[in-house]
Amino acid sequence: MSRKQYSIRRTYIGRLPQGADLLESITKICKEENIKIGKITAIGAVKKAVIAFYDQVEKKYHNLEINQEMEIVSCTGNVSVLNGQPFVHCHIALADNQGRCFGGHLMIGTEVFACELFIEEYEGEILERVYDEQSGLSLWHPASILME
Ligand code: ZN
Repeated sequence: MSRKQYSIRRTYIGRLPQGADLLESITKICKEENIKIGKITAIGAVKKAVIAFYDQVEKKYHNLEINQEMEIVSCTGNVSVLNGQPFVHCHIALADNQGRCFGGHLMIGTEVFACELFIEEYEGEILERVYDEQSGLSLWHPASILME
């Protein structure tokens, strides 16, 4: 087994405009810059959000719409390749005005109030997503498994 190693090639740092869709915006930037392997980090606030929970038995996502302003406590994710295209996978933790958190898989429909975004692109082998029977998800190809 040989573990793949990566180093940072480029880092993009900036903010997103108010009203932008968080996931769509990150995906658009990654496609425009042709980023095929990378890391996403963001903080800020949203006007509303759509997050999802993956039911491991049903093997499907259930969406949760939260129609209120919230802080982005943490948004972290990755960029890899699905069907030949840059594909962004992010998870997000959001806090309401009492500090209570919601979290899950970031979906389209999350509207930015303010967002400070870092995108790191790596130098190294691209990771392709392929359908994984066991989980029902499109996961990184088996050669990327770090443990036997
Ligand atoms: Zn996810």
